[in-house]
Amino acid sequence: MSLNVEQPLRIGMFGGAFDPPHIAHLALALAAVDQLQLERLHVIPTGFAWHKPRALTDAVHRLAMCELTFAQVKGAVIDSREILRDGPTYTADTLAELKTQYPGAEIFLVLGEDQANSLEKWQRLNEVLNNAIICVAARPELACPAGDEKSVSLEIPGMRTLDMPPYAVSATEIRHTVAQRMSLTPLVFDSVARYIDQHHLYQTA
Ligand code: ATP
Repeated sequence: MSLNVEQPLRIGMFGGAFDPPHIAHLALALAAVDQLQLERLHVIPTGFAWHKPRALTDAVHRLAMCELTFAQVKGAVIDSREILRDGPTYTADTLAELKTQYPGAEIFLVLGEDQANSLEKWQRLNEVLNNAIICVAARPELACPAGDEKSVSLEIPGMRTLDMPPYAVSATEIRHTVAQRMSLTPLVFDSVARYIDQHHLYQTA
């Protein structure tokens, strides 16, 4: 007897530090699911971020805030695989795992513009490009982390763009806003703002 288990065929991957997740992350996820007709979107908080200059907030908190933020995104699953992995986490490894998990599926890697601009620095970029279709959302320059280049210099074969209104927000700004005891409305969900407050996160930026 053969089991007729329907495999999802259009799978998204959305990685990030999510420290904390904010409204632009949510908008990007909603745009990706809608415009790419994704059956599932893996939201994957980074484990050890070799490319970020600061230590990330404990993964337990980032996962909890992702659950609060992405709960309303149809097909979104908060995926802790990079957090559970030892050592530095590379997108190439995660994509290879997703390929194995969903044989025959198309994998869409969704990114903000600042990340797309730094693709040249990624480990095993060829593998990434072979395993995923890169889908980029514009990011207003002011909302890009300092030091990130703005203009896309790399030719990415088959790249798609996501249509999304500009959100001038970054997690860096949110951490500074908390440290200055200012209101987080409307940068994050109220439930995330409450979580940050209850757990005394980002008291010093
Ligand atoms: P930080 O300020 O700490 O560097 P961040 O706001 O850039 O954080 P990340 O978790 O690093 O957030 O971003 C995850 C993904 O979301 C990346 O692909 C990033 O480009 C994208 N992204 C974040 N903010 C925006 C935004 N305002 N507009 C479009 N894309 C965004």
